[in-house]
Amino acid sequence: MASLLVPRIAARSVLRPVGVRAFSMTVPSLATPTPGPRGTTGPELLSPVHDQLNVSRDHDLPHFRHARPPKREPDYSEGPSALEKAGQLFLFTEMVRGLWITLENFFRPPYTILYPFEKGPMSPRFRGEHALRRYPTGEERCIACKLCEAICPALAITIESEPRLDGARRTTRYDIDMTKCIYCGFCQEACPVDAIVETQTLEFATETREELFYNKEKLLANGDRAEAEIASNIYADHLQR
Ligand code: SF4
Ligand code: SF4
Repeated sequence: MASLLVPRIAARSVLRPVGVRAFSMTVPSLATPTPGPRGTTGPELLSPVHDQLNVSRDHDLPHFRHARPPKREPDYSEGPSALEKAGQLFLFTEMVRGLWITLENFFRPPYTILYPFEKGPMSPRFRGEHALRRYPTGEERCIACKLCEAICPALAITIESEPRLDGARRTTRYDIDMTKCIYCGFCQEACPVDAIVETQTLEFATETREELFYNKEKLLANGDRAEAEIASNIYADHLQR
């Protein structure tokens, strides 16, 4: 019995590595990995599969083709030639062009202004501080229709009203909370009699919050002060309204 077992074991120990090696040489994933060219980690094509496919890099295999595309050499046929590059380098053309732009801007008028002593142009549609207007007779324009209050998206306007002796309406209270106002201009667009307007005044910063709660007297005073400017701006814009 022992004489039969010894040759079998010896044969297995010899043949098993050979069988494994033969199998691994036919399956690429089991092929012995060897370092690729120029530091790539993929297996170099040493197996029969690679020989049959006549490919030399691991990414040329069909199952690698989408995972890692082959490197392409950059196209140097376009762009400046070596002579042009050398000319730019030794003749300082880029430096001369940069200095020319500096020289051009040196003689241009400055883009900045000395605010607040100088002020730039302002559009007639500029939306600044609010004002309530009067007719040339001194009568208030506002008829207390409350369209401005209804349209204000910031809920900044508060109006209370009463009937006049002639049956028309007038406001007894017209408040604007300027801390809420977003200067959208909806109130002046909604007003049917151009009573509430936004002037070109933008310098009305205050030291306290309370000073920005405008009442009717403050708004009428703004309108009286800026009436000429308001009328001129409305006229300048009347073709677009
Ligand atoms: S400008 Fe706009 S946010 Fe300001 S009061 Fe008029 S409607 Fe309201
Ligand atoms: S300011 Fe104009 S929109 Fe507002 S209540 Fe007076 S008339 Fe109506």
